[in-house]
Amino acid sequence: MLIGVPKEIKNHEYRVGLVPSSVRELVHNGHQVIVETNAGGGIGFTDTDYEAAGASIVATAAEIFAQAEMVVKVKEPQEVEYKQLREGQLLFTYLHLAPDAPQTNGLVKSGCVAVAYETVTDKKGTLPLLRPMSEVAGRMSVHVGASCLHKAQNGSGVLLGGVPGVAPGKVVIIGGGVSGTHAARMAMGLEAEVTILDRSLPRIDELNSLYGNKLKVVYSTVDAIEKYVSDADLVIGAVLVPGASAPKLVSRELLGKMRPGSVLVDIAIDQGGCFETSHATTHQDPTYEVDGIIHYCVANMPGAVARTSTIALNNATLPFALALANKGYKKALADDPHLMEGLNVAFGKITCAPVAEAHGMEY
Ligand code: NAD
Repeated sequence: MLIGVPKEIKNHEYRVGLVPSSVRELVHNGHQVIVETNAGGGIGFTDTDYEAAGASIVATAAEIFAQAEMVVKVKEPQEVEYKQLREGQLLFTYLHLAPDAPQTNGLVKSGCVAVAYETVTDKKGTLPLLRPMSEVAGRMSVHVGASCLHKAQNGSGVLLGGVPGVAPGKVVIIGGGVSGTHAARMAMGLEAEVTILDRSLPRIDELNSLYGNKLKVVYSTVDAIEKYVSDADLVIGAVLVPGASAPKLVSRELLGKMRPGSVLVDIAIDQGGCFETSHATTHQDPTYEVDGIIHYCVANMPGAVARTSTIALNNATLPFALALANKGYKKALADDPHLMEGLNVAFGKITCAPVAEAHGMEY
């Protein structure tokens, strides 16, 4: 199969659909790969690296869209991109179609076969191609939270790990799923005092067997949130209620009970945020202050560490990209019901129920 990788064109997007080692795997499996010049340049993957892996470099995205049988990307295609897709051409990328009518109509009109990373499932019913980004955001939340505590950022001046003779900072994580657990691991690594609040008893049990007395795991109630948040130096919001907006678990009133200069990092901001006072921010201007409490609410945290995020994403997408290339999409989708869940649009029809419902379209 001829596989194409265009350079991402969204503002400040440095990730790339295939890293050189993924290209090498595809070439090793008998496929041809064309990559737009400088597609991975922002994260240290040069054209020479891609050529060494067996790819051919082309000058423009137009050549990729005109020639490739499968286009592999990271972000949803922009208007200039979806207008170049053609009938039967395979697109493998994040799409997030439900809130995006123009893109949905564009993909339907093109007749392409679009498989979305975010709706591919696994045996546990979770979303394996979203997981790496939650891992990145969870780990990053502790870095950014620790730096927001510095005086130069208006923080309280607390060092999370403390030092001998000085107590460590208190990190409270609301939601002990993928991102919350990775946040906890980083905070424990810094030797902070870490508490996770979750309301899933099986998850509480798992966390308890995994980390024992290194991690305090508490059932999440209004009472518990009030108790732990009011005494926290850093609060990380990492809840998810599938298919729903994030519940507002920390009220503005509760901020008044916290120490001035303490920090809230709202990872769940992409679902509306789990703090009453959260609103989405950007990497250019990531923080703001409400009632003396510093808020960090960047909706695309993994973009800041685009090299790590790209490699992590490729580790998860490569087996599916190989299946699509080796078997062709018809057999690959027929053989794997989890990959089939990723099929959102095919030959002018929406093939994913929630997307069809969101747009009042036929399914
Ligand atoms: P997850 O499903 O793995 O974990 C969510 C956890 O929240 C679950 O353990 C669940 O039991 C718990 N929970 C639900 N309601 C709760 C409550 N009231 N109190 C305490 N815990 C509660 O989800 P995840 O993969 O960790 O993702 C978390 C959020 O982070 C999602 O909104 C996701 O989209 C978002 N995210 C944001 C970024 C970013 O850049 N900001 C990046 C990746 C993921």
